[in-house]
Amino acid sequence: RVKRSGGRDYQFFHPSMAAAAENRRRLENELRLAAERQELRLFYQPIVDIQQNRLAGAEALIRWVHPQQGMVPPDDFIPVAEETGLIQEIGLWVLETACDQLQQWRREGREDLYLSINVSGSQIPHGLPPSAVMEALSRRSLPPGALVLEITEGVLMSDMKQALEWLQALRQVGIRIYLDDFGTGYSSLSYLKRFPVTTVKVDKSFVRDMGQDSSDRALVEAIVAMTRSLGLEVVAEGVENEAQLALLRGMGTRYGQGYHFSRPVPAGDFSAVTERLETLLQATPGAPG
Ligand code: C2E
Ligand code: MG
Ligand code: MG
Ligand code: MG
Repeated sequence: RVKRSGGRDYQFFHPSMAAAAENRRRLENELRLAAERQELRLFYQPIVDIQQNRLAGAEALIRWVHPQQGMVPPDDFIPVAEETGLIQEIGLWVLETACDQLQQWRREGREDLYLSINVSGSQIPHGLPPSAVMEALSRRSLPPGALVLEITEGVLMSDMKQALEWLQALRQVGIRIYLDDFGTGYSSLSYLKRFPVTTVKVDKSFVRDMGQDSSDRALVEAIVAMTRSLGLEVVAEGVENEAQLALLRGMGTRYGQGYHFSRPVPAGDFSAVTERLETLLQATPGAPG
């Protein structure tokens, strides 16, 4: 390691860097095959109306069941998928799988549930054209209200005109858009006015510290108040306990999602989880009969 007069650190090549590069190449190759080998799964996490104490929908969260490494979380492979362009193919698989799941729920009598999927910035607009989304729905006779797309504000910042056209095309046919991880980026309030998003998801980092950190509490409260005055809906992510839930309810937050209600679960476990959850919600004081 040498230090130059400018004060910057320069890192010399180290053998561990070769190992890291090798790992990365292996990951890329394995990810390329993961879809073919059916190693990708969607897990589902309930989204709860915490004012009316009822299940509202769910978020689909991708998992990679790696033959040697077991369950690989999305934060470990989605960035690789984005950099290599594999996200396009994965994203279409997510769309199709989510729509199959919606159809399945409808067959089971759950036409009240919606499903949200996460969309990477690099999928917009050509990786996930609005026409492909509408086709996936109409092929299964699903209404556009059944599907929600979650984007982050990074999407809006990169190419505003392109993002706006993409969003408008989806909104025009009634597909809802959630702005994910709100509060972590620039969170320019003008985005909320300029872009036709329907809902803001308060990032879990603020919800986590709400009990101890009064500035986080103030921030969540401000986001909830602001979304309400703009006529937007709000979901609080990362609700882990009763105390957080009580605070969020008190602020008038409409929806909540988090381990307190359920972890993300495989499709096969979802109906058992929702049954248990709905029994609990109905027993909550103030719940609709
Ligand atoms: P996200 O969309 O913000 O999803 C919320 C994350 O918080 C999920 O992590 C979820 O498992 C986790 N979570 C839920 N409730 C709680 C809680 O009470 N406490 C805590 N600490 N965490 C909670 P996960 O599943 O690891 O996903 C991480 C991120 O990966 C997602 O963040 C999303 O940005 C991305 N991702 C997931 N699935 C997909 C996908 O299909 N496509 C794309 N492009 N990105 C995806
Ligand atoms: Mg999300
Ligand atoms: Mg989030
Ligand atoms: Mg995220």
